[in-house]
Amino acid sequence: MDQLPGSNILSPFFFAGKLEEEKFKRFERLAELFTWLAVILGLLILQLPFAQDLNKQAIYIIDAAIGVYALVWYRLIPKKFSGRLKMLASNLITITFIAFIVHNTSGVQGYLIFLYFLAILSSAMTQPIAYMLITVLYVEFLIFLEAFLTAGAFEVNISLAVLHSWALLLVVFFARFNAGEASLLKKRQEEVILGRERALGELKDEFVYIISHELKQPATAIKGYLATLFSKYSDSFNTDTREIIELTNVNSGRLSKLLDDLLDISQIQKGSLKIKMTDVSLRPVISEVLSSLLLEAQNKRISLVQKGAEEMAAKADADRLKEVLTNLVGNAVKYTPEGGKVIVEVKKEGGFSKILVSDNGVGISEGDQKHLFEKFYRVENEKTEAVKGSGLGLFITKQLVEKMGGQIGFTSNVGEGTTFYFTLPRYRW
Ligand code: ADP
Repeated sequence: MDQLPGSNILSPFFFAGKLEEEKFKRFERLAELFTWLAVILGLLILQLPFAQDLNKQAIYIIDAAIGVYALVWYRLIPKKFSGRLKMLASNLITITFIAFIVHNTSGVQGYLIFLYFLAILSSAMTQPIAYMLITVLYVEFLIFLEAFLTAGAFEVNISLAVLHSWALLLVVFFARFNAGEASLLKKRQEEVILGRERALGELKDEFVYIISHELKQPATAIKGYLATLFSKYSDSFNTDTREIIELTNVNSGRLSKLLDDLLDISQIQKGSLKIKMTDVSLRPVISEVLSSLLLEAQNKRISLVQKGAEEMAAKADADRLKEVLTNLVGNAVKYTPEGGKVIVEVKKEGGFSKILVSDNGVGISEGDQKHLFEKFYRVENEKTEAVKGSGLGLFITKQLVEKMGGQIGFTSNVGEGTTFYFTLPRYRW
């Protein structure tokens, strides 16, 4: 609790008035409503038989002036200018109108002085301390000025002015402490909720990490047993058995990939993803990734091509780089129809190596392009519905590339194909 705001008794006084900018529009709407109510009800009340002589004509003129001001201020000035400064100006203008009303009624001796209290109440509750002080000083100045202008004994007028000032200061302190305390309480509650949510999020990440980690072991074992089955007993399989075991193998591969992705995500989320940067020769890494995806590509008669004869090295984590390339080339194969072509190319770009993975596959629409790197985002249309995936690959790929000091992007046209590219800091020139 110690780190939370408001441990000091004076904190509410300084904390009040810390409104976010968008709240001012709401305050303005309220102020407009209040102004119109004051104008209309004021006119009606003025018809009552008052004991004191009021300069009704002057009050009508001031009332009309307030009406015109309200129209211009709240209707003609665009709302985008709403904010602290506009509110201060509005308060000062309102207070000036009040000064005229007070002057044209019974001055410091009259009851309409309470209108100042209303204006100061709103300022104390909603404005930063400097603006509130300006407003208080302005009101004090007007009250004492009125003491000189009001008819009657000067000592009485000055005494009344002092009394009003005292009451005004009480209103200011009381309103500001209460408003500040309420805002502080809200802030403290928000921080407690935020803290709980954060802790819950961390717990969830930890849970996902532990579960994925525990499931990884049996999944790897199943993959190993299947590989043994294939290598040792493949000859004894009949067609049905072969098909079932092949399907089991594909699904166990998917399960392993999903678990790897979940492990990556929870490490990214926890901030514990480790990157070991070394100098990596790009050519052999790309060849290795392409060979690992060769079978998948051959099944769809897709040709995998490696372009760019030049030898280039980059600063990267070799395993993470393989993961990035496997995701991008794997996607290119997945989202390219039979007989297509996937090209991996390396280029120099300033101090960076740029690796491009192009395909002539289904492409990505503009609407989907905006969301592609979001967690769990998958494009859903008739061309992609048969392709299995989790929507995690590109999210992880982007994080990994950025962790290695590079950037990722893509260009795509529906029906023509997609090129994903990413950069890595170059090691040798
Ligand atoms: P997954 O492939 O598991 O669905 P990804 O995060 O790797 O998840 O990709 C997100 C989405 O981006 C995919 O669902 C797919 O629709 C689209 N996508 C990715 N790569 C390509 C590509 N080369 N061509 C067309 N669409 C792609």
